[in-house]
This record gives sequence, structure tokens and C-alpha cells, in this order.
Amino acid sequence: MICQVVDVKKSYFNNQSDLQRAVLKGVSFTLEPGSTMSIVGPSGSGKSTLLNIIGTLDLPTSGKVLIDGQDIALYSDNQLATIRNQQIGFVYQSHHLLPQLNLLENVLLPTLPVREKSKRKMALERAMFLLDSVGLADKIHQLPGQLSGGECQRTAVIRAMINRPKLILADEPTGSLDDSSAGRIGELLLRLNQQEQVALMVVTHSVKLADVIGNVHYLEGGKLSLK
Ligand code: ADP
Repeated sequence: MICQVVDVKKSYFNNQSDLQRAVLKGVSFTLEPGSTMSIVGPSGSGKSTLLNIIGTLDLPTSGKVLIDGQDIALYSDNQLATIRNQQIGFVYQSHHLLPQLNLLENVLLPTLPVREKSKRKMALERAMFLLDSVGLADKIHQLPGQLSGGECQRTAVIRAMINRPKLILADEPTGSLDDSSAGRIGELLLRLNQQEQVALMVVTHSVKLADVIGNVHYLEGGKLSLK
């Protein structure tokens, strides 16, 4: 399995009352390569917290997260940075493209550590292929500010895929888009999941998007249940 979450609990300190507030109260699941999972739940139920923990950006208070069979708590910060760069693709509500770089340069950002000429060429070819597959081949030299929200978000999805990750984590990926652009992003994520066998985990308010992604779970009261 690509990701195993074992009895993950997370509490935050409330500065005012000095008490701990439990946000996740024991969450367990596994994600197989090429599988999908969507999580819906009310605002504040801990969806982003869970995604950040799986994405190695935050640590659980107790419990374990294994990525590709390895306990992420045992890795150094440098090793975690490599895992985030190589194994996990992140997509957020806001596209987070760099405004001064064109679309192609934005997509190639995660490949910058690669120095070998032949590998850089392969990354460039993959970026062009993926941008073409989402209808952006003629816009690769444009800046994000010259494009629509949907086009920027499609570029952000391609950037997340450039290093052939094993897992995509998407946090409200359609939250800023109109219905038609949102539909396209849902279809794109699913297509990449099927074509490249990347595991896909999406947290969202949108029941429509969750249904498209499938394997819908509900997070409420710190617990995850199948919907
Ligand atoms: P969701 O994504 O479902 O809207 P979040 O995971 O963002 O929920 O937040 C869950 C709860 O945890 C919220 O009450 C939020 O205020 C709290 N929380 C999130 N991050 C922190 C933090 N760094 N410090 C304290 N409380 C936090």
C-alpha cells in the first residue's frame, strides 16, 4: 500500500483555556496504489489537519503514518522534503503558481533539483505532454495572471504530477472555481489517477466532487466513517 494511517490522533492547545482540543480522535485507513478516496465533512472537522499529517507537513499527537511502508516519524527533515518532492503531489484550493514564472516554468519547478541533462529533457517532454493533454499547449509561455482560475488550477494539478508521485493530496481543489471548471478539475484528477495509477485523496466540501472521486468518507467528531 502507498499510505497507511494507523489510529492517528491530533490535539491542539487552546491558548486561552490552556486545554487540549482533540481534532482527530483515532483515524485509520489504507490507500492502495492507484486507488481513490474522498473525505467530506463540516468546516473545522479536521480534514486539512488529516491531509497535512499524511503529507508529512504536520505530526500526529499519537498514531502512525506509513508512506510506502515507512513510518514518516523516523525520517529527518531533509528526507521528508525529498518524500514530499518525489512521492507526493499537493493541490490546494488556491493554485499557488508563482506569478513571475510562465506556465511551463511553474510546472517544472519541482524538477529543479534534477541536474542530469537527459533527465531534464525527459521532465521537459513530460511537462509539455501533460500541459497539452489539458488543452494548455498554446499557453505555456503565458504568466498565471493572464489565465483563468480553471487554467491555473489545471496547471497546478500538472505541476503536482510532474515527478510521477505515488500519491496526490488535494485540499478543496475546486473550492475557488465555477461549476464547469470544477467539473474539469474533478475529471482531470480522476483521469490522471487511472492513467498513471497515482493514488488520489481529495478533501472537499463538495459532495459532487466527492462523488466523482469516489470511495467517499465522512469526517465528523474526530472520526472517519464510510458514507
Ligand atoms: P477543516 O479542514 O475540516 O475545515 P481543519 O483541519 O482546518 O478543519 O481544522 C480543524 C480544527 O483544528 C479547527 O477547529 C482549527 O481551528 C483547529 N486547528 C487547525 N490547525 C491548528 C493549529 N495549528 N493550532 C490550533 N488549532 C488548529
